[in-house]
Amino acid sequence: MAREPVVSRAPEIVEEEERALRPQRIRDMVGQGDVTARLEIALDAARKRSEILGHILFDGPPGLGKTTLAMAVPREMGVGFQIASGAALQAPKDLIPYLTNAEENSVLFIDEIHRLPKVVEEFLYPAMEDFRIDITLGDGMNARTINMALRPFTLIGATTRAGLISAPLRDRFVMREHLEFYTLDELSEIVRRNSRKLNTEIVDEACREIATRSRGTPRLANNRLRWVRDYATSKADGRVTLPIADAALKMQGVDPLGLDGQDRKYLQTIVHTFHGGPAGVEAIAHTMNLPPDTLVDEVEPFLLRAGLVIRTPRGRKVTNSGYAHLGLEAPEEPAQGNLF
Ligand code: ADP
Repeated sequence: MAREPVVSRAPEIVEEEERALRPQRIRDMVGQGDVTARLEIALDAARKRSEILGHILFDGPPGLGKTTLAMAVPREMGVGFQIASGAALQAPKDLIPYLTNAEENSVLFIDEIHRLPKVVEEFLYPAMEDFRIDITLGDGMNARTINMALRPFTLIGATTRAGLISAPLRDRFVMREHLEFYTLDELSEIVRRNSRKLNTEIVDEACREIATRSRGTPRLANNRLRWVRDYATSKADGRVTLPIADAALKMQGVDPLGLDGQDRKYLQTIVHTFHGGPAGVEAIAHTMNLPPDTLVDEVEPFLLRAGLVIRTPRGRKVTNSGYAHLGLEAPEEPAQGNLF
């Protein structure tokens, strides 16, 4: 999902570092205090009653910790864990091995759960509700359906598009938690902790600068930190100072608000091709030669949150702040928005 060229290292090293940076336990997570507090209570209650934990749905933009939380839950409960992706489960038969392999009380995590086709969703309902599935054997005249019992399990779903989840599926989750962008203080703390894990010396101002330019997203903060560290090693003595962090991020095309080339191109496309908007997301995506999903999932959430664009019934519009960010003068009667 990361859309940035991260670092010039071998993929195994990047993967190993990712693992090292991912908080293992819920208490290791920075921020999302309300979500983690509710989760701890649900876990504690399930443990005390020796009951299975109810199904949980996490939603929010990419890189905010949905997978991290989903992986921490089985660790807290001391149970098994399986991971699947909604995009890969295109027929009930794709889901069956996960359901039948699920150990008692284990966690099955389905990422991008909004991408499950309707037939798979419907197949999942009795599994979630009664821990049973109906399997059809043979076809045509000889087809027969058998009802199979499963071991009780907890389903954790993650989605960047809560709006695309059908009501019957949504209602089968006992807990539904929305993850929000992180504050500057929280992201600074993540950068500080992760510099230690990467054995990188860094000054507080540089932590804050990286945090400011990470669009409220821990995954980006980690990527930017790794790039800044490489830059410091290559161009200086490895210590990350404020000028080093600034120069490294500038070189990567990350501006003071944290927008990268793709974010700015999105704003420029609306301004130059669609006269500031309103413009439909399909048309913007087509002009930028990108899938609309990439814009909706990865680009727009932060720009909307930052008040650089707004959504109207007729499409996206660049706000006064959006024009100002591009160093352009807004036309008369532009859309209103606040830069936070
Ligand atoms: P998502 O599943 O929402 O796309 P991830 O859980 O994969 O996001 O998070 C991306 C990375 O960001 C993780 O590998 C982890 O290093 C970091 N991260 C996410 N949430 C937190 C947090 N609350 N505290 C510290 N690091 C975090």
